[in-house]
Amino acid sequence: MEFTVKSKEQNELIEISDKVEDIVEKSGVENGICLVYVPHASAALMIQENADPNLCDDILKALDKMIPLHDNYKHDKIDNNAAAHIKSSIIGPSESIPINGGKLQLGQWQNVFLTEFDGPRERRVIVTIIKT
Ligand code: ZN
Repeated sequence: MEFTVKSKEQNELIEISDKVEDIVEKSGVENGICLVYVPHASAALMIQENADPNLCDDILKALDKMIPLHDNYKHDKIDNNAAAHIKSSIIGPSESIPINGGKLQLGQWQNVFLTEFDGPRERRVIVTIIKT
């Protein structure tokens, strides 16, 4: 199963927990593993808190500090988005979440986010559920 997400900003955290939970519910799987995967090289996936939206800004700010938008990257001469690739490679393209009793076993403060680093764009999210 998969769905698409449209980002609006160049750098953005977009919560996708509800969409992933819908797929888990429709699968009817009671116990297993939910693998969420983004097939992109300039976007990634992150599990993080959503209660305070400022935290998303803080994460993006910290990443910008570590990885400046332009820093004489060689890849910027090709398509000007090296920082997006570097951020994505650090965050990673997937998360595995246990399913128990038909529910994702996310902690109270955990939510699933697509992390956009080269938006705005449309992104694919692939959800694979393995029954155990
Ligand atoms: Zn590129």
